[in-house]
Amino acid sequence: MSILAVGTIGIDTVETPFGRAEDVLGGSLSYFAVAASFFTQVNMVSVVGTDFPDQLWERLRRPGVDLRGVVVREGKTFRWAGRYDYDLNAVETLETQLNTFADFRPVLPDGYDRSRFVFLANGDPDIQFEVLQQVPGARLRVMDTMDYWIRNKPESLVRTIEQVDILLMNESEARMLVETPSLLSAAKKLLRLGPKAVIIKKGEYGAVMFTDFDYFAVPAYPLDEVRDPTGAGDSFAGGFLGYLAQSNRVNLDTIRRAVVMGTVVASFTVEDFSINRLEKVTPEEIRLRTEELREFTRFVLD
Ligand code: AMP
Repeated sequence: MSILAVGTIGIDTVETPFGRAEDVLGGSLSYFAVAASFFTQVNMVSVVGTDFPDQLWERLRRPGVDLRGVVVREGKTFRWAGRYDYDLNAVETLETQLNTFADFRPVLPDGYDRSRFVFLANGDPDIQFEVLQQVPGARLRVMDTMDYWIRNKPESLVRTIEQVDILLMNESEARMLVETPSLLSAAKKLLRLGPKAVIIKKGEYGAVMFTDFDYFAVPAYPLDEVRDPTGAGDSFAGGFLGYLAQSNRVNLDTIRRAVVMGTVVASFTVEDFSINRLEKVTPEEIRLRTEELREFTRFVLD
């Protein structure tokens, strides 16, 4: 099953203690699409400006990625700049320029409205909501968000959360949205808004999934070297939903395996800037890290 996905395609400038990357491919949807394309086809819905360079278009033209829903509008592409210190779990946003994304009204190309799997990547919650209205037959609706939208559009954000099946958020943002320090009670509050599952991403400490009757935790895949954590959350989502859409079964077992797939795929993203490492991943590498992660978390009782 293919995935319909909406979010930002952007031009990023990122600084970490291990280097700097200027004007590279970024955006929540770009990372998501590349990550999910290892498992299934992704139909992208987004906007770029007339300044979006050919070499960045080339990075997005990949098997498994359909770009018919990406429109070009007069003006500039979404831009984001961020900096990380040695604590790579904490990003300092230096600049967010919405540009053409600010007044983007998504219109789905023919056939996209029949999508069964929908991903609302981090982006304007009003745009996320509009996309949901256009896919009434969706079987699984998953969304992600971040502090920028919690601060700027909290009511719209809650309205969209109420409509989805699975909510992905990172730890500090979940706490911020429901103003609760305990992760467990934050997750319970988020579940009460409507989603059937909430997955909290904890950066280098892994990810935790909560439903009303299940709890599942996976550590991050251990890496010697992390160069740039940007896009880890979006590629986690890509591995997660890509796996579910490919298996076309949604139950607690497949969702648990999907959390593991998300964790493994994200581990490649953070090894280099932009999608430099992610785009080169092979199915064999994904398989090997998945097996290693299973070994790292296996234990025997008596
Ligand atoms: P992540 O590190 O997974 O949270 O995602 C980082 C990506 O999200 C970067 O490539 C940015 O271009 C993009 N991004 C940053 N801020 C926003 C925002 N407010 N809305 C949508 N996308 C954003």
